[in-house]
Amino acid sequence: MRVPSRNITGQVKAHALYWGFLAAKLAVAVALSGGILWFINVFFTPHTPLFHLNRYRFARDLAYTTLGGVWFLMSYGILYLAFWDQRYRCRTCLRRLLMPVETGSWSHMLRLGRPAMEYICPYGHGTLNIEELKIAGAIPPDWTEHGDIWSELFAAPTTGSGPGDTGKTEDR
Ligand SMILES: [Zn+2]
Repeated sequence: MRVPSRNITGQVKAHALYWGFLAAKLAVAVALSGGILWFINVFFTPHTPLFHLNRYRFARDLAYTTLGGVWFLMSYGILYLAFWDQRYRCRTCLRRLLMPVETGSWSHMLRLGRPAMEYICPYGHGTLNIEELKIAGAIPPDWTEHGDIWSELFAAPTTGSGPGDTGKTEDR
């Protein structure tokens, strides 16, 4: 497929959108986590005015310490979800990537490559390749941009012989 090079402004805009979305999600995660901690602290004296663990209760009161531990795990889970969700989003339009397809094969590695899972944007902006096995440390997912597939579809028809040309005009 022909990959048209996007202009610099478009690339900067897509990057700003992608990373801005992650920043917004992280801000929501921090606010949510802080809110939950504040809610837990409401039920314990002495009252803590801000979003931090009650140091007179933590590691002294079993109920509060347990709640603190659960809160920590939940906050970690929310942050993890924010990053996990970001990985499976289109780098151009932020939609969730769909249609996972297994590619590659260990037994035909030279021909098909190593096994990986490939996802695609529903609007065809690009595909994401995630390696199945990470032997040499973390391998970042490989994003391949496809450009605008619709521009090719709606392009002005070219004159001359093509697949639809029946050759009626040919003189015999
Ligand atoms: Zn997209």
